[in-house]
Amino acid sequence: MRDEFFAGSYGGDASKIADNTRLECKICWYVYDPAVGDEYWQVPPGTPFAALPDHWSCPECDSDRNGFMVVDD
Ligand SMILES: [Zn+2]
Repeated sequence: MRDEFFAGSYGGDASKIADNTRLECKICWYVYDPAVGDEYWQVPPGTPFAALPDHWSCPECDSDRNGFMVVDD
């Protein structure tokens, strides 16, 4: 199932996440993968979640970035 949903929330604390950590929107399940980046916001591949621009929000549902959950592989 989706156990990773409960692994922990980002909550604005960048120290919780590594440069290659993927995070998942708790509203729509969109996953931000640093290896892929984000075409919607024109974020280049290799951009860590913590380095996303301040205006970044979920490209699918416009949810606040602080609502993203760490995907624990
Ligand atoms: Zn979303």
